[in-house]
Amino acid sequence: RIAYVNGRFVPKRDAMVHIEDRGYQLADAVYEVWALFDGLLADPEGHFARLERSLAELRISMPMSRRALTLVLKEAVRRNRVREGLVYLQVSRGVATRDHAFPTTPVAPSVVITVSRVDRAATEARAAKGVGVVTTPENRWGRCDIKTVGLLPNALAKQKAREAGAVEAWFIDDLGLVTEGASSNAWIVDQDGTLRTRDTNANILRGVTRLSLLDVAREAGLKVEERPFTPDEALKAKEAFITGAGSLVLPVVSVDGKPVGDGAPGPVAMRLRRLYIERAKATAI
Ligand code: PLP
Repeated sequence: RIAYVNGRFVPKRDAMVHIEDRGYQLADAVYEVWALFDGLLADPEGHFARLERSLAELRISMPMSRRALTLVLKEAVRRNRVREGLVYLQVSRGVATRDHAFPTTPVAPSVVITVSRVDRAATEARAAKGVGVVTTPENRWGRCDIKTVGLLPNALAKQKAREAGAVEAWFIDDLGLVTEGASSNAWIVDQDGTLRTRDTNANILRGVTRLSLLDVAREAGLKVEERPFTPDEALKAKEAFITGAGSLVLPVVSVDGKPVGDGAPGPVAMRLRRLYIERAKATAI
């Protein structure tokens, strides 16, 4: 395994960042994750646009041009000889003597890239069976729209899911509505066949897979509503699923141990999974 750290490709075991990196000390960093199909980056435009937005919101400069970054990401993929997998990019504000406020003299952002392999046969098998989710109170901060590495609540939620034999946790806000998953967006298929997912004016991440899937669904002639739902509505829905660069479109068959619909992956979710993957493959770079 080869990692990219600040201009150099190094064996992953030797890949280090400074102890005074603000990403490490203050979670003063953002990240992106691209799915890889046949060695190509899926949904490139959406992920680059969100990266630039996340950086701008934190006033961290883009470490290099989009074009240069694309070349570095692709070189990282090539050196790791991965065809099906994920590419992780982290950009922190950089290294500075510890102080909460931003460094007064500009520092160069730190850039780290890693590439991991995904066993597509195993993930397809998982999708065919569906997964469980658990619910957990929304306890994150007020800027979940920025893809920061401040992921401790997400990590704790994911651990809760794992201990319950589920694979994702859905955060529930004060009104009892699902905000999103710890690393995915949440969807249901209503009894009348309408797709429903929370709007992104709320405090959630603007999922790139979510955005692409909205297009895919409309092209497929499905009705879509960007409106939140409760866990109870998910249980009464025909189907539920989650989206993300890691999960793609993954059927949810239970919420807190109770079955969604007939407790099996639904045809709409499975169809959307197939259509999303087709489109992602066709547009990957
Ligand atoms: N919501 C959260 C909190 C996430 O961390 C992620 C991805 O990691 C998503 C949603 C899905 O976003 P995307 O489709 O861009 O991967």
